[in-house]
Amino acid sequence: MNVEKLSLRLEKVAKYVLDHSIVADIGSDHAYLPCYLAVNKRIKGAIAGEINEGPYQSAKKQVEESGLEHVITVRKGNGLAVISANEAEVITICGMGGQLIATILEEGKEKLEGVKRLILQPNVGSESVRKWLLKENWILVTEEILKEDGKIYEVLVADRTGVQPYSGNPTYELLLGPYLLKEKSDVFREKWLGEIAQWTNILKQMKKSGSPGVGLKIAELKEKIETVKELINYG
Ligand code: SAM
Repeated sequence: MNVEKLSLRLEKVAKYVLDHSIVADIGSDHAYLPCYLAVNKRIKGAIAGEINEGPYQSAKKQVEESGLEHVITVRKGNGLAVISANEAEVITICGMGGQLIATILEEGKEKLEGVKRLILQPNVGSESVRKWLLKENWILVTEEILKEDGKIYEVLVADRTGVQPYSGNPTYELLLGPYLLKEKSDVFREKWLGEIAQWTNILKQMKKSGSPGVGLKIAELKEKIETVKELINYG
């Protein structure tokens, strides 16, 4: 791969990396992100962490072939276990489910000492990430949503300082994203129209099933559909 050119998704992540910082990219796979940052002289150093042997080897190969061993260290291990406290200033965790990202952060909490910024790119389930950030007093400073190759991605950036963006309805702001909800881009509306279509199908199945206790679930889902429709100005 030509590490000078990234996917649009990882380019959005790279944009928020603090200049001249030490970055830990967890679940780095091919290490494209740290290689791109190093080639473009954006960082002082990086750790590329991988839990699985195949991606770990491909990260090592990419770093060696790019001649970047003096800037990027590739380490094998689970989540934040590959770094020490006060080692990284920025952590990136990209291309995984939001629940897994939240678990990695929760299990490695003590390694976040000295970290100034988290840049998280959940493929699904960004609500779990926002909830974890709020619980741990990380300030969500910005969000992006983008579409690439037919898939929709979100990028969440959190710092230690600032003001939490949640205001009116935290439950739905945590689900949709406070900044994304304010902006209401076309991609954002497309994402939630897709979710509404899926929920409507689930609702139909629930109504057909008639199993005990389903009444409450139907009412909850109906309310969720109506609220999200209203929030995205649908209909
Ligand atoms: N971050 C890259 C990107 O966004 O293009 C690669 C994403 S890839 C879909 C997810 C990677 O995370 C896989 O290579 C997988 O082995 C790794 N991974 C999953 N769970 C992990 C964990 N607990 N710790 C470290 N790496 C993990």
